[in-house]
Amino acid sequence: MFNKEIETLPLEKLRKLQSERLVNLVNRVYKQVPFYKNQFDENGVDISKIQSIDDIHKLPFTKKTDLRDQYPFGFLTVPQDKLARIHCSSGTTGKPTVVAYSKKDLDIFSEVVARSLAAGGAKPGMKMHNSYGYGLFTGGIGIHYGAEKLGMTVVPVSVGMTDRQIRLLQDFQSEVICCTPSYAQTIAFELEKRNLSISDLNLKYAILGAEPWTDVIRKDIEDSLAVKATNIYGLSEIIGPGVSQEAYNEQGTGSYVWEDHFYPEVVDKDTGEPLPYGEEGVLVFTTLTKEAMPFLRYWTNDICSLSYDESNSRTHIKMSTIKGRADDMLIIRGVNLFHTQVEEVFKEYKQLAPNYQLIVTKEGLSDRVEVKVETNLEFQQELGYGNGFTKEDIAKNTKLVSISNKLKKNIKDTVGLSMNVTLNCYGEIPKSEGGKLKRIIDLRNS
Ligand code: ADP
Repeated sequence: MFNKEIETLPLEKLRKLQSERLVNLVNRVYKQVPFYKNQFDENGVDISKIQSIDDIHKLPFTKKTDLRDQYPFGFLTVPQDKLARIHCSSGTTGKPTVVAYSKKDLDIFSEVVARSLAAGGAKPGMKMHNSYGYGLFTGGIGIHYGAEKLGMTVVPVSVGMTDRQIRLLQDFQSEVICCTPSYAQTIAFELEKRNLSISDLNLKYAILGAEPWTDVIRKDIEDSLAVKATNIYGLSEIIGPGVSQEAYNEQGTGSYVWEDHFYPEVVDKDTGEPLPYGEEGVLVFTTLTKEAMPFLRYWTNDICSLSYDESNSRTHIKMSTIKGRADDMLIIRGVNLFHTQVEEVFKEYKQLAPNYQLIVTKEGLSDRVEVKVETNLEFQQELGYGNGFTKEDIAKNTKLVSISNKLKKNIKDTVGLSMNVTLNCYGEIPKSEGGKLKRIIDLRNS
C-alpha cells in the first residue's frame, strides 16, 4: 500500500475526517463561489445545518451543464495566479469542461494515483509504460506524476505510433503498462501480427481505464499480454484518473474509491434520491479536499453501485465497474441498453475475439442493432480460414452459422433485444489508436 495509514483508516475515523472536510468545504464555497451561494440560497440550504457527512444529501447536485455555464473559471476558489495547471475533460460527450488545480491539488492527484498504481500491483523501481494521452486530457500527465511519486521510472510514450510502443516495450522491458483497455487490445493484436511472443516483453501489470470494460476484455488482455489487468477509474472534474482503483489481488470485487478525498454516493437517475449499497444508479462525487476548483455532489452520469467489502485490510468503499454513461445508454425499441451488456455475452464464446461494434440504424419506425464481432485467429485457423473469410464463406460454413445463431439467441435471452449478428475476421473491426474506443455507431439521426 502506498499510504497504509489512510487506506486502512477505521471507518469511524474516516467519517470524522470526511465530516470535517465537508463542513469546511461547504463554508468555503458558499463564500467564494457565486454559483454555490446562489444555488444554496435558491434551494434554501442553510449551511449551518451541514454538520457531518451524513448531511451531504441536503446539498443540491452540480451538473456538467453548470460547469459549461461557468466556463472557464466560474468555479474557482483561488485567484488565477495560484493555479498550477489547467486541464480539460476529453469532451467525449460535447463541449469540453475546464478543470484547474492548485499546487496542493496536484499533490493530492499524485497521491491518489500513487495509491492506485500500488493497489494495481506497481512497485517502486518498476518501469511504467504510460500510453495514456499527454496533453489537456488528465490521463497521461496525471498517471505520470503519480507513478513518479510512487518511485517508478516513467516511460512517457503517450498514445499512438504502436510500432514505437512495441519497440519500447521490448527494449525497456517495462513491467507496468497504463492505457485504455481497448488500446491494450490493440498492442496485443499488433504483437501477434509481428509474430512476437509475450516472452519478448516483461509486462506484469496492466492498469487500465478511461472507458467501460468487462471481464471479457480483461481475460483477453490477461491472456494475450500475460499481465494482471486492473481497473482504474476517474474523471477530470473530480481530479482525473485515480479516483478509484481495483486491487490486483482482489480482482472482480470492485475498485476502492479513495474516499478521504472523493466522497461517493449512488443516486436514482430520475429522482436523485440516494440508493442503498449494492443498488445501481448514478455515481455522484464530492471533492472533499480539492482546493482550486472543488465540486459538491457532482453528477458523473456514470452508472454503477457501491459496497463495502470487509474482508480486506483497506477500509475504503468499493465501486462496481461502470456499466456505461447514462448519456451513452441506447434506447432500443423502448429497452435500455449499454454496450457492456452485449460484451458480457461474449464470455461464453472462446471462438470470438472480444473486439466489437454495435451499429444502430432505423428500419422504418423500428430500431435495428447489428452486432459486429471478430472471431479469433485460432478458431479461424482451425476452420481453414487463417487468412480470413468472406460473407459467402460464413453462409456456407456450418460452424460459423451456428455460432452467429447461438450468439443471436444468447443476446436476445440475456439482454432482451433481438439483434443481428455479423461475424468479422480477426483484425477487421477498427481498433483503438490510443484513446477511448467508440463501440457504438448510432446512425439513427444521420
Ligand atoms: P470525458 O467525459 O470527456 O470523456 P474524461 O476524460 O474526464 O472526460 O473521462 C471521464 C469519464 O471516462 C468518466 O466519467 C467515465 O465515463 C469514463 N471512465 C473513466 N474511467 C473509466 C473506467 N475505469 N471504466 C469505465 N468508464 C471510465
